[in-house]
Amino acid sequence: MKTVEFHTCDCSDKRAFPDRRSAEKALGRAQAKRDRQAQRWDSRHPMNREHRVYQCDFGMWHLTKQSRRTYEEHASQNAA
Ligand SMILES: [Zn+2]
Repeated sequence: MKTVEFHTCDCSDKRAFPDRRSAEKALGRAQAKRDRQAQRWDSRHPMNREHRVYQCDFGMWHLTKQSRRTYEEHASQNAA
């Protein structure tokens, strides 16, 4: 579903944001939604909170829920 806020990037089909503020705003919404779901579904096992934003080589900002290890591998690949 496309909205005016939706951007794509040449690096992937992921949703992309033109600046960090936009990405972090979306990240906050995603985390709030997930926190509610986590409380409802299984409060004993909080889901990992590795959601973060990063800037790719194309200068766009993305959200990721990858694990830290995967994220760092991805980041180092992007840095190469
Ligand atoms: Zn990108």
